[in-house]
Amino acid sequence: MKDKIWLSSPHMGGSEQKYVNEAFETNWIAPLGPNVDGFEHDLTAYTKTKYAAALSSGTSALHLALIMLGVKAGDEVICQSMTFSATANPIAYLGAIPIFIDSEKETWNMCPELLRDAIKDRLTRGKKPKAIIPVHLYGMPAQMDKILEVAKEYDIAVIEDAAEALGSCINGKAMGSFGLMGILSFNGNKIITTSGGGALISDNEYYMKKARFLATQARDPAPHYQHTEIGYNYRMSNIAAGIGRGQMEVLQSHIEKRRANFEAYKNELQFVEGISLKSEPDGYYSNRWLSTIVVNPILTNGITREEIADELLKDNIESRPLWKPMHLQPIFRESPCYLNGISEGLFENGLCLPSGSNLTSDDINRVVNGILKVFSLDVNN
Ligand SMILES: *Cc1c(COP(=O)(O)O)cnc(C)c1O
Repeated sequence: MKDKIWLSSPHMGGSEQKYVNEAFETNWIAPLGPNVDGFEHDLTAYTKTKYAAALSSGTSALHLALIMLGVKAGDEVICQSMTFSATANPIAYLGAIPIFIDSEKETWNMCPELLRDAIKDRLTRGKKPKAIIPVHLYGMPAQMDKILEVAKEYDIAVIEDAAEALGSCINGKAMGSFGLMGILSFNGNKIITTSGGGALISDNEYYMKKARFLATQARDPAPHYQHTEIGYNYRMSNIAAGIGRGQMEVLQSHIEKRRANFEAYKNELQFVEGISLKSEPDGYYSNRWLSTIVVNPILTNGITREEIADELLKDNIESRPLWKPMHLQPIFRESPCYLNGISEGLFENGLCLPSGSNLTSDDINRVVNGILKVFSLDVNN
């Protein structure tokens, strides 16, 4: 059996251990400390935001953002349907109701027209949504100009789920820095990892101070432990942040490698009838966290995404269907949704290909050859 090729595995740069060792040498193992400060500084410098709070996960960052916007049981929060469940779960933690919005074709993210329709409809039903959560899926930025325009028109806060999009931007402005708040993830499969972690980023001093307060058990200033609010244990440890600092040193090269992966797939696969790859709209820059293809069985003589995935698996290569939209998830079947069929089509026919920054050109060739084999096309090398 040939070596396993993973979808997206951790890729250390080298200096992560230096920062972790420093933490050990100074016995600064506990939450917070110089690595957390350093990592937060790196994140604000990179995203050109004023504040960053390093947290235990991207999910906890979203949870805190919703709490700070005053989301309570029975409230409604608008959420992109085509995403990972972690985008929607924090809405449910608060007993609030997610309102799911389908995608548009250009970026596969929240459709601004459906967003407007949904807000109008919710308002006629007597409820104003408390927040809007667009996602930058697989690193591709959502149409933030249009989404922000609608949000502004109705005066609703935007929390950007940029968990998959660290390093992506629109006209040079970092994803996560468009909304009132943005969240990042450093989970093991993301473009950089702290072995598990996340961050909240924003220019808003009030929310960021509040986030730090809530994330450290909401301790009031007093000599004893005193609490006037419910707190959370959501901070990142000084050890994990050490890994993050090392990872920030290699982020740019990770992005370049992931983009090169996409280009390599595109060069080899773009002429295969029925396979399409998503290009970037003008001014949009994707970190290409995951390279994806969409397989149209009408144009491939019936060859499906499943047949490609099976063939890859035979060669010990991991692949995965695109995210199953939240409005199709059993747990969210009662939630209102505003649909146009796009996310369902993507879920039906889309496939994520191995995309790690640690893939070799031999790895990429194995993936490409596996796909070409299904089409009985000439295999190079
Ligand atoms: C990974 C991910 C999250 C959650 O991040 P964690 O750090 O794993 O909690 C949220 N949203 C999206 C779109 C993700 O891909």
